[in-house]
Amino acid sequence: MSKFCPNCGEELIDAAKFCKNCGYNLESGEKKSQSYEIPVVEKSHTLGIVLGYVFSLLIPLIGIIIGIYLVTRDDSPKASRHGKYVIIVGVVVWILSALTLFG
Ligand SMILES: [Zn+2]
Repeated sequence: MSKFCPNCGEELIDAAKFCKNCGYNLESGEKKSQSYEIPVVEKSHTLGIVLGYVFSLLIPLIGIIIGIYLVTRDDSPKASRHGKYVIIVGVVVWILSALTLFG
């Protein structure tokens, strides 16, 4: 006998308490917390990422410098991924502000 996950439709054994595919909690009917997807070993660099986005919008030059710092974080794929976005946002804001000033 088997049952199916109400969230993703994965086939599960009757004794299962969590869906092995999506982490859905079959007893409380709630999705398991995000810790399922984010490995604890990874350093977060969350503050740097947030500051990067804030500065790239307000002071693009500083935002781009923070972005370069984030991109070079080898210990955190998340930080290097966001670093690229921070640099892109900074460059775009820089160009837009230049166009606004001189256009
Ligand atoms: Zn599921």
